[in-house]
Amino acid sequence: MIHISNKQDCCGCTACASICAQNAISMAIDEMGFKYPIVNTNRCTDCGLCEKVCAFHNNYDKSNNFVVPFAYAVRHRNMEEIKSSRSGAMFIALSDYIFRNNGVVYGVGYATHFRAVHKRITNRDDCKELKGSKYVQSDLDGIFHQIKGDLQQGLYVLFVGTPCQTAGLRSFINKKNSEKLLICDIVCHGVPSPLLWDEYLNYMEQKMDYTIEQVNFRDKVKGWAAHYESFIFQNGKKIITHTFTDLFYKHLMFRPSCAVCKYTNTQRPSDITLADFWGWEKVNSDFNKDNMGCSLVLVNSEKGQRVFEAVLPEIHVISTTIDQCLQPNLQHPSFFSPLYAAFWKDYQQKGFAFVLRRYGDQGIRYKLSRLKGKIKQIIKRIIRK
Ligand SMILES: Cc1cc2nc3c(=O)[nH]c(=O)nc-3n(C[C@H](O)[C@H](O)[C@H](O)COP(=O)(O)OP(=O)(O)OC[C@H]3O[C@@H](n4cnc5c(N)ncnc54)[C@H](O)[C@@H]3O)c2cc1C
Ligand code: SF4
Ligand code: SF4
Ligand code: SF4
Repeated sequence: MIHISNKQDCCGCTACASICAQNAISMAIDEMGFKYPIVNTNRCTDCGLCEKVCAFHNNYDKSNNFVVPFAYAVRHRNMEEIKSSRSGAMFIALSDYIFRNNGVVYGVGYATHFRAVHKRITNRDDCKELKGSKYVQSDLDGIFHQIKGDLQQGLYVLFVGTPCQTAGLRSFINKKNSEKLLICDIVCHGVPSPLLWDEYLNYMEQKMDYTIEQVNFRDKVKGWAAHYESFIFQNGKKIITHTFTDLFYKHLMFRPSCAVCKYTNTQRPSDITLADFWGWEKVNSDFNKDNMGCSLVLVNSEKGQRVFEAVLPEIHVISTTIDQCLQPNLQHPSFFSPLYAAFWKDYQQKGFAFVLRRYGDQGIRYKLSRLKGKIKQIIKRIIRK
């Protein structure tokens, strides 16, 4: 039976809990806010299936993959779709294709208090909620079973998730039943803790004295390349900040398994990979001149290729090569901050407001370092003159 002695060994994909016929595995939240499998030994019959299905290792299934994926820069033809998506809106082109074929789409939306959860969506209107990246680990509870049920009913299914989630799903779904399943992963930097996301929302609500009615993890108000999150409060006020984004890029809030991620390469556990196309200028300097967003799309399998060709009327495409789009998380896992352990210790002992001041952009340290940077710039300018 599955037993997690080192937290880095489990990405929380739920494949083991889903496969257990005895219902012996539940996913329990730890003190950092991430879920791990716990086995009820009274129910377990020691069949070994949970260990077999786990795909968080280097030998995950790549049997359908092209030797080298085909790489494209992509933008949706409809600018409104680009504005409301994280990058070039490739996702909505794919989900529209699935709906045209009377299928269902699984992606990440929100539950109470903007908790990120995977959801089953059956129409275009509801699919708007899935648009945009939620930079926090999503809850997958029960989803793999729903997908299996849809496939047994003969429906087309699109699942979008982090590579560890798609690897888990691929391993859980029997290959024979997966003909109508299109799996898309994202290039993944790492997932922050849902607990810290909730703490941050509470912090903002207390600060503003109003509840939050809308969130956007990456508001394009200052363009696609600038990274800001935004909130709309009950009183109608909109606030744009970079506090959560800042902690995200400092690599302080990630799940421990992200430090040893198995999927930061070009052999993807999916049919199609979606990402931001950093460095798009090298391919065509006009393509994203308005800075509203450009998708990188990797086509990894024959099934992916068939669907990609079917959505061509919806998208502008420029073909490129893997060498031109190799961003860090296609080469190695994100390097965790040397302050990672201290950050979590401080959070557990002194609370969220404290770590925001010490490690984030809310304290005197951050303000002093910004001031120091500005003074340096001024001195350099004076010397140049
Ligand atoms: C945690 C995280 C880390 C990422 N890291 C990188 C990176 O390092 N480099 C890079 O180029 N791109 C990264 N991305 C992907 C990128 O932000 C866009 O999601 C991707 O380019 C798709 O954009 P789009 O315009 O096609 O679709 P959008 O309309 O923006 O669709 C987003 C899709 O992502 C899914 N999604 C949203 N949040 C999550 C989540 N928390 N977990 C799983 N799936 C989710 C939605 O279900 C939807 O299908 C990351 C995304 C996430 C969620
Ligand atoms: S060994 Fe079999 S019965 Fe026991 S927890 Fe794993 S899947 Fe369930
Ligand atoms: S990685 Fe997935 S399958 Fe493996 S132990 Fe964790 S939750 Fe279970
Ligand atoms: S970095 Fe790897 S382990 Fe972490 S969420 Fe992304 S795919 Fe999963």
